[in-house]
Amino acid sequence: MLNQEACVNSLNFTVPRLGEAKITSPIKMSTKTGDNMANYVRDDEFILYNIDARPGSYTIEYTSQDLLEKAGPREKIFFSPGHVHAGIVTCGGLCPGLNNVIRALVRTLWYSYGIHRISGIRNGYRGFLPQYGIPVMPLDPDIVDDIHTKGGTILGSSRGGADVEAICDSIERMNLNMLFTIGGDGTQHGAFRIAEELERRNQKISIIGIPKTIDNDLSFIQKSFGFETAVSEAVAAVSSAHTEAHDAINGIGLVKVMGRESGFIAAHTALAINDVNFVLIPEIDFDLEGEKGLFAALKRRLELRHHAVILVAEGAGQRYMESEQQRDLSGNRILGDIGFFLKKAIRDYFEKQGMETSIKYIDPSYMIRSAPANPNDSIYCARLGTHAVHAAMSGRTKTLISMVNNTFVHLPIEIAINKRNTVDPEGPLWRDVIGATHQPMLFRND
Ligand code: ATP
Ligand code: MG
Repeated sequence: MLNQEACVNSLNFTVPRLGEAKITSPIKMSTKTGDNMANYVRDDEFILYNIDARPGSYTIEYTSQDLLEKAGPREKIFFSPGHVHAGIVTCGGLCPGLNNVIRALVRTLWYSYGIHRISGIRNGYRGFLPQYGIPVMPLDPDIVDDIHTKGGTILGSSRGGADVEAICDSIERMNLNMLFTIGGDGTQHGAFRIAEELERRNQKISIIGIPKTIDNDLSFIQKSFGFETAVSEAVAAVSSAHTEAHDAINGIGLVKVMGRESGFIAAHTALAINDVNFVLIPEIDFDLEGEKGLFAALKRRLELRHHAVILVAEGAGQRYMESEQQRDLSGNRILGDIGFFLKKAIRDYFEKQGMETSIKYIDPSYMIRSAPANPNDSIYCARLGTHAVHAAMSGRTKTLISMVNNTFVHLPIEIAINKRNTVDPEGPLWRDVIGATHQPMLFRND
């Protein structure tokens, strides 16, 4: 049997709180009437993180490391709604669904809790820095009414500018009680450091992250918003590349998709549209030359079928372009363009072989990043935003909202930012990709 008390104290997944929640929530939301009127989530409701049932483990007792706290509205809240000033910031690259999350945050704050002081911080963390003089954007349900139909973020975004002390000074000057940080690993690293600094200053300010990773590469985030839209848009690009390749003489369609460290978009796209013959991802190194290299496999494919489609994730094959490496404003490595590199290398190879080919390179990345969210992502974003507000109101901080095993949960930011999700080359996803493309397990000569 699980001892909840012991468990709450020793959980790896324990979510930090600002203090005791003493105020009765204004939310009334049950189909039942009378005393049962509200289906609040209790603080001792958890789900299992790992749902594998391996031989020998069926009878284990749950330890504290297995449990994730359920997200949702609490009966007792930490903040008094009438006194709250909430801030929202979006940072990093664009991703479908940013506006949907902003809309859900604003509507839940406004309608569920009656909070009417909501400030949008513009242009990412830079919007906090006085030297830029960027005014905040007051937000209300009218302003966010139809923003979910558009891609991008109404608040704008940026990289760099994360001067944590200066940001905290601004947060204090603005009298913010809670800040919602919508962004990727960099943003959530920043959010964690901001929360630590505020804690050091004895400020009871809730920092709640809504993780954005179009690459789906944050650990413990089993499904990131915008990912499904990204795959749908990538499928459209591959379909065009296939048509171009099919109708040319020895046509080669080359498509580059997002995936700096992880090939999830490429893997899912290849499975969604069976026209892809070769998928290259950052997790698996590949040789170009030699009997077992990519070029030889491509040549065999063209001799057999006279057209081919290659799908490459942006982080794949970076060893071929090491000399191009630089850093962006946030300190992220600027990747070499594997698409352009492959296009030229493949063309040179077939010229040397004396074989006529026609190669078309499509890079849909920015079209994908700026697309509006599809209906499934829209639903997901709306629910992430709603749960983020409940988490903040209950006094959680340094917390991310995530969906694990089909349930919305609270995750300590600290855990999620320290590890990346990658495609397991030995796992079922990659096995299915190999099955769908029939490409060799490895393009390696050794
Ligand atoms: P994307 O998925 O687009 O890369 P991201 O959130 O990782 O999203 P970044 O540009 O890396 O995007 O970071 C966003 C913001 O977070 C920037 O303002 C950056 O300066 C800040 N940031 C990044 N890493 C840290 C860190 N370790 N500490 C504090 N702030 C950080
Ligand atoms: Mg990042």
